[in-house]
Amino acid sequence: MSALTSGVIVLLMAVAAAEDGHTAPPTPGLIRRMISISSSVLDELLQRLPQLRPQLYFKSSLTALSHAMEDQVLASSGDPLVIASFQRERFYRQEAHRYDRIAKLTSQIYVLAAPETSFMSGSDQYETIAFDPSDQLSQEWHLVVVGSSYAACLICRERQSGGDRPAVPEGSMDQSRRFEGIWTFDRQVSLQAAEILLDRIQRYRPNLAAKIDQAKALLALHPDPVQDLAADPFAQRLVTHLQAGHYKLLKAYRSIAAQEQRERLVNSITAAIRQSLDPDSIFRVAVQELGQALEVCRCLVYRCKSTDDTAVLGFEARRSDAIPSLLQESWPLAANPVFQTLAESRQSVAIASLSTESTLDLRPIQPQLNRWQINALLMVPVTHQGRLLGVVELHQCGSDPYPWPESDVLLVEAIASQLGVAIIQSEAYANLDELNQQLEALERTRSNLIAITGHELRTPLSTIQVCLESLATEPDMPLELRQVMLSTALSDAERMRKLVQDFLTLSRLESGRVEWHLEPIEMQECIDLALSSLKTPKADEPASLPAIATQVPSELPPVRADGEWLVEVLTKLLDNACKFTEPEGQVVIEANFSGGKMLEVTISDTGRGIEPNRLETVFDRFYQEEGALRRTAGGTGLGLAICRQIIAALGGTIWAESAGRDQGSRFHFTVPLAQPSTEQSAAARANGNGKKGSKRDEAELSPKPAARKRRTKKS
Ligand code: ADP
Repeated sequence: MSALTSGVIVLLMAVAAAEDGHTAPPTPGLIRRMISISSSVLDELLQRLPQLRPQLYFKSSLTALSHAMEDQVLASSGDPLVIASFQRERFYRQEAHRYDRIAKLTSQIYVLAAPETSFMSGSDQYETIAFDPSDQLSQEWHLVVVGSSYAACLICRERQSGGDRPAVPEGSMDQSRRFEGIWTFDRQVSLQAAEILLDRIQRYRPNLAAKIDQAKALLALHPDPVQDLAADPFAQRLVTHLQAGHYKLLKAYRSIAAQEQRERLVNSITAAIRQSLDPDSIFRVAVQELGQALEVCRCLVYRCKSTDDTAVLGFEARRSDAIPSLLQESWPLAANPVFQTLAESRQSVAIASLSTESTLDLRPIQPQLNRWQINALLMVPVTHQGRLLGVVELHQCGSDPYPWPESDVLLVEAIASQLGVAIIQSEAYANLDELNQQLEALERTRSNLIAITGHELRTPLSTIQVCLESLATEPDMPLELRQVMLSTALSDAERMRKLVQDFLTLSRLESGRVEWHLEPIEMQECIDLALSSLKTPKADEPASLPAIATQVPSELPPVRADGEWLVEVLTKLLDNACKFTEPEGQVVIEANFSGGKMLEVTISDTGRGIEPNRLETVFDRFYQEEGALRRTAGGTGLGLAICRQIIAALGGTIWAESAGRDQGSRFHFTVPLAQPSTEQSAAARANGNGKKGSKRDEAELSPKPAARKRRTKKS
């Protein structure tokens, strides 16, 4: 609202309050005639009485003074004049009950305020005068009381604070507000102040002229009476109000101090966490700090899981050496009803007196409670994402009950959550080391991959390109040569296909994207399929494969496996055996069942053998004895890695044996039997592969008919 000059009458809708930041809905039909005066009551008083020296008052002092003045009126008799001007309706509302009481003593009461919700000019129990929020009165606080035997006035103006702070802050709790002005018992000053205010009220409410004249007459009656001011009771009242204010302040200070202590503790533990990745040193700081801050007999921290039977008390701080130490003592958890309550709820458990505790049956831990002189106990869980990692425990040892203060419980909970972070942080660091090693392995794989793809894919690709270019550019090429070109290109394309396929297979297996179809399978069947996939030389070609013999007992029980993947393993092992064995050598496939739960298959050869220190390494991805770039035998170096993944997924193990270079190799693997017990296997055998068994047996034991003869296959 623009600056309104003294005496200008403005028509204001009830939205005036809303304009001032208050959102009270306008009362329908409520149109107030409010006047806005820009001159200050304080200035006018100082003009009339230039000898007065304004002073500075805090809001709390003015509150105490006004309460004491109001109480003085309430305690007196007669027909005093009371004029109170509040800056805002809300300040008046806090005092309204007092004015209701004062109204019973006198009819000369004038209450002024800038309306915010429903305050308006009227004549009810006393006169109310609503002034426009832009009126200078909204910056001032006045209280004038004039009785026949006493007078006092408080005429003050709010000091504008610097910056953007509003002159009248929203929260009435703002104790830092300051006012300057006059407060006095001086009757002359009080009379002058009353006169100025009465003149002003007449301008706001001209219809009160007669009543105001009465008031002025009253003032004139006792221009200078014997001031029988009861200074003592006034001072008493003032002190009471100041004491009450001080008490409130003390309470606020205490809660700030507690908050500060909490923050300091949490900060010191957070600092310890930042400086160290070692949870033990953090726990040491935590027990010391907490034990000291909360003045408990004992503060303990220990690591545990919710399923642990006992915990070793690893960290402790005691108030004095007279209290028995529990360091390295074993504390029952599974049989401890307090711990069990905590583990189930993941909430703190506070017990003020264990001797009178009735909700929990403490008998299982009574010996420890007695021996360790524990009277009151607080257990706070250390958790991370719902996982229990440990406990912070406080003991009081005296005999009096000790109701754990809520602020202490909150503090311990804040510390416990920091300890949870410390534990997780140190675990993460340990994992990081492991991850680093995995990363290094990955990096090795990646460079191997680049090397092998560079070599494996580029070499056959170049060959294919040369062959196809020759075929395209030399139409007169003899038919025989064309055939050679074509078959070379085809076989190299096949090599590339295998490499790509192996990559894909291994990555599927490693990422767990394989769906396993486990069913009872005849091992002989799988061996046959693997053998049939071996490339047999044509009649006119020289024998390129060594002799292959199978030694598989005919009464082998079926295994539980995924047939396709099992054939894949056999094929790869057989391929290797043939690849690394001279055509004159021998390859033998054996299957053995010695009771128990597994069937063992061995593929042995008389070939080039494996150095003893390489027997594990051959299963690494891309391992090739000659190195990827000098390889002569073909292959990708992925075959055995694939075999290991498959066998592990089927629930078995795979390993290699060799007496060394040129001593031949033996590759073994195991797979679980479809029905592990000997009797069941015997039953399966008696059923002739389940053909005569129940339907379920048929389905489970013999999915496919299989040749049962021990046989030798020569290539
Ligand atoms: P590759 O495709 O190179 O055969 P594998 O993973 O199947 O890849 O085998 C890895 C390496 O293990 C081979 O390059 C070879 O050095 C060694 N190896 C595998 N099987 C045999 C075997 N039967 N005799 C000797 N060495 C073998």
